[in-house]
Amino acid sequence: MNVLSHILGFPRIGKNRELKKSLEKYWNNKISKTELLNTGFNIRKFNFKQQKNNLDLLSVGDFAWYDHVLNTSLMLGNIPLRYSKISNLIDINTMFNISRGTIHENKKIYPSDMTKWFNTNYHYIVPEFYSNQSFNFSWKELLEEIDEAIRLGYKNLKPIILGPLTYLWLGKIIGKKFDRLMLIKKILPIYIEILTEISNRKISWIQIDEPILSLELPNNWLYEFRNTYKILNNHFKKNINILLTTYFGGISHNIELIKLLPISGIHLDFIHGNDNISFINDILPKEWILSCGIINGRNIWKTNLKLWYEKLLKIKKNRENLWISTSCSLLHSPIDLNTENNLPKRVKELFSFAIQKCYELLLLKEALQYNDLNKLIKWNRYTQNFSQNTKNNQIFQKKIVINDEKKINSNRISYTIRSVLQKQKLKLPLFPITTIGSFPQTKDIRKIRSNYKLGLIDYSSYEKNIKKHIKDIVNIQEKLDLDILVHGEPERNDMVEYFGENLNGFIITENGWVQSYGSRCVKPPIIFSDINRNKPITVKWIKYAQSLTTKIVKGMLTGPMTIFLWSFPREDITPIEITKQISLVLKEEILDLEKANIKIIQIDEPALREGLPLKKSEWKKYLQWAVTSFKLVTSNVQDTTQIHTHMCYSEFKDIINDIIALDADVISIETSRSSMDLIKLFKYVNYPNGIGLGVYDIHSPNIPSIKLIKNFLKQASQNIPMKNIWVNPDCGLKTRNWEETVKSLYNMVYATKILRNELKD
Ligand code: GLN
Ligand code: ZN
Repeated sequence: MNVLSHILGFPRIGKNRELKKSLEKYWNNKISKTELLNTGFNIRKFNFKQQKNNLDLLSVGDFAWYDHVLNTSLMLGNIPLRYSKISNLIDINTMFNISRGTIHENKKIYPSDMTKWFNTNYHYIVPEFYSNQSFNFSWKELLEEIDEAIRLGYKNLKPIILGPLTYLWLGKIIGKKFDRLMLIKKILPIYIEILTEISNRKISWIQIDEPILSLELPNNWLYEFRNTYKILNNHFKKNINILLTTYFGGISHNIELIKLLPISGIHLDFIHGNDNISFINDILPKEWILSCGIINGRNIWKTNLKLWYEKLLKIKKNRENLWISTSCSLLHSPIDLNTENNLPKRVKELFSFAIQKCYELLLLKEALQYNDLNKLIKWNRYTQNFSQNTKNNQIFQKKIVINDEKKINSNRISYTIRSVLQKQKLKLPLFPITTIGSFPQTKDIRKIRSNYKLGLIDYSSYEKNIKKHIKDIVNIQEKLDLDILVHGEPERNDMVEYFGENLNGFIITENGWVQSYGSRCVKPPIIFSDINRNKPITVKWIKYAQSLTTKIVKGMLTGPMTIFLWSFPREDITPIEITKQISLVLKEEILDLEKANIKIIQIDEPALREGLPLKKSEWKKYLQWAVTSFKLVTSNVQDTTQIHTHMCYSEFKDIINDIIALDADVISIETSRSSMDLIKLFKYVNYPNGIGLGVYDIHSPNIPSIKLIKNFLKQASQNIPMKNIWVNPDCGLKTRNWEETVKSLYNMVYATKILRNELKD
């Protein structure tokens, strides 16, 4: 019996975020294209080496300058019309133009949409499809990277390519509606061309990613899988073996289809699916390679290798070939634990980043081959104890939570009554104007935070400096005449990390970066033990801001689902348990804000929607969890305290009832890109509470005109009750500069005031 190890992809940002740094320099004309290309080459070289040290098959083609879905678009020659019109050339700049937008002859050419990659916090560039489209094999970087690896002397290469059906699924139609599945006929010949080139390079395995197989797909899509892979198989026979990879969820529901596909092997995610491993093993053809994804590619804990050893041993008995792998690409994992210099040894002993995960595969492979468990046991020697030591606390937490939950539903009086009370207390004008929380994060602000973190300045000087910024931000808002002010979040590097840094139970890494999109990386905090709070976290700043003005200052918290989803959670405590702990802490924080006389509090939940399970049949349970978590946070709040929530997206259609169930007094949403459809939805369901309409698209440097804002509000007020409408930007302003911000907010206020006046007459 043969055991082989491989991974589904290695992170491409570079050990010290070299890609991010080079990209940003290149975009600012600080380095040449050659220098940028060189950074990419060095990252790939490093990645090959890490794989070679530990694994049997080496992934190639997992590198991307911006995003791997965009790679695929370029490879297939799928360039949005507005870009192909301005140039026939397809190169690295085409990629950056599509993802970031460009200016051509003084006209702004819009970037393609970006959206979440399945249920992760990675974003991909949405392919655009239109009828009469044609494709051709245009961008050949995949082949170049294979040749590069060959030149570097690497063997056993396994190229990775995004599957044609997943590619089509992820795209959207531009213009006249049609069934994008039809395009498979046009795309397949290009795939054949690419695979032919690959097989000419004497490569025996290719990894084709079709993660949509873990979704509940419509029948015509499922049927097309059979067709597509039959065609590919007929073409290549045994020249090249296809390993079909699925991840992020189980595939048992599609097993009857999958088992008939003419492929040579399949990869399954045994971490995120509920698939029964022996059931799958029995049902899938014996001659197939079964690639078992058993190292979590989306978290940082060491794998319990002994446990998997025992499970895999059973499979090993009746299968000639067993492959072991990570659950998904390591794209979602930080790179090297050894760059963490500040973590105590006993803590580091529990973690495993991308490089360590490759090593875990080596350990497991050796154990399976030589039936020697010693190294595995040594690898996990601290893991077991760590889990047991936290049991007592969990019981303690459970007690508190049960008491609280009983109160959740009976606590707040109905919105109809509390809105009257709030109106009397807050005395707001028609169309109250506010912002979502953060203001531009200048170099100066970043410097204060980093100087404090590095110990270059002491706390009192840090506090003084942050307060100075809060004061400036409050002053500007007063001048602009916004109605509800914010403190601007200058103390926060990131909306989740900040809470992680200030709560007990989290560990913040120095270098645990993960790509979020393009050059943007995030550093998710690690949920390490039970979560609680020694003292208030946000009150000092908000209270200070409030002391500077007679206007109301809104308190600003990150919600429980967002903190959970954007962290690396414990795997041995249930997600529900963890979010309960977070909710309880946030509840205490709200009560402290109330005590400090803060009248409006916003709880941001931008991650709520992305956390939706991939299978629709699991949505209900998830949404119930999300709603309960939110309501637990707000369960003891006074009726006159106005609770806001913020979600930065616009797809509410299938979750609108749960949004209603949150029962926030005001919800602010993204509307400037998708506008009227969304407003009509809120009209249709008769959404009773306040709605903050995002009239300023903060993802773009454009300044919305007064006319545009006014017309939009006017139209909106024909659809939703005027008294419910709030005016705000789409999201926080931290990525914008001051000039754009002030101009846009000025227009926002101006437009609202004109409308208020017109309505008076
Ligand atoms: N309050 C946060 C901010 O303004 C919200 C960010 C978000 O929704 N992603 O930055
Ligand atoms: Zn937002």
